[in-house]
Amino acid sequence: MKLSEKIRSGAKLAPQFFGGLGDGSNGTCAIGAALHAVGELLACQGPMRQKSCYDVFPVLWVRAGCPCDCENPKRIHSGREVNTMGEAIAHLNDNHRWSREAIAEWVETIENKLDAEAASKLASERKTESTTRATSDEVSTRQIELVLLSSRLD
Ligand SMILES: [Zn+2]
Repeated sequence: MKLSEKIRSGAKLAPQFFGGLGDGSNGTCAIGAALHAVGELLACQGPMRQKSCYDVFPVLWVRAGCPCDCENPKRIHSGREVNTMGEAIAHLNDNHRWSREAIAEWVETIENKLDAEAASKLASERKTESTTRATSDEVSTRQIELVLLSSRLD
């Protein structure tokens, strides 16, 4: 479940909203749109909210920086410094009024980077695995040689 795809599908369901998730009828922000698309918007709303958008999309926790052009190096959203991808999205939506499609495009670049990192990690794990396997193959070949040698001695 890619966050960027969900932002795009949610953006088709309601107009853009600023300053909160939005409730779907008056609109949705970028994260609100993604929640809307997966049917979790109301669960993340209001004083009775059962979960946070970070529960639904854990990728929002990624420290991604912010692609905006704020002169203040500590980009602030709701009085807090922007650190996670979730905060960056809220900042881009509310403070810079980026369209949700533009935000989705940026989110996708981060997702692709994460995919690439996961793939290279997997590749290096596989490499270690095959090296280990080669070593154990060598051992068993040597054992066979020893067995053959001892049988010849008999
Ligand atoms: Zn900014």
